[in-house]
Amino acid sequence: MKILCTDLEGTLAPEIWQEIGNFFGVNELNLTTRDIPDFDELMSRRMDTLHKNNISYEKILNFVETIQPFNGAKEFLSSISSDYQIVVVSDTFYELGLPVVQKLGNIPLLCHELVIENDFIVGYKKRQEEPKKQVIKGFQAMKFECFCMGDSYNDIQMIDESNGVFIFAPSEVKASRPDIISFNSYNDLKEYMLNE
Ligand SMILES: [Mg+2]
Repeated sequence: MKILCTDLEGTLAPEIWQEIGNFFGVNELNLTTRDIPDFDELMSRRMDTLHKNNISYEKILNFVETIQPFNGAKEFLSSISSDYQIVVVSDTFYELGLPVVQKLGNIPLLCHELVIENDFIVGYKKRQEEPKKQVIKGFQAMKFECFCMGDSYNDIQMIDESNGVFIFAPSEVKASRPDIISFNSYNDLKEYMLNE
């Protein structure tokens, strides 16, 4: 039995910040780690943009409840569940990611926390530095074997720490690491994982 450490956004569900940007009509929120790999820089731009556009925490929470996982994501996870235990390892925040993960099943989510003041996002508490890599190291210290899947630069740290693949990665991410196997469908990935 292996542990699947899977990314969330772009992998099992849409990019939550992009969905928020589209819903509130704010293009600056569409940037992701694919555009700005430095997470702290990306987050401070997001918080500035929310303030400038008067988008409160409550408005965001009401919206994220409506975000649905990708078609087939839940079925994919259940199709491999006899061979893999599943953990979602994400650079999202519990406040934003949990409503989406709960639609995929009762799966642990390892991510960060937001800091809210006066109904606005004013900061965040990162769980730890190099969070995705540290999850893999933690499982390995407990003698678990991990397989990782993700779609972006921040997933490479966990793929490099164990074994894993890209799914739905854009061409520039794939080009940055042509040695990492890449998939564009859950069915193809499932076949690969079950023959691993
Ligand atoms: Mg992602």
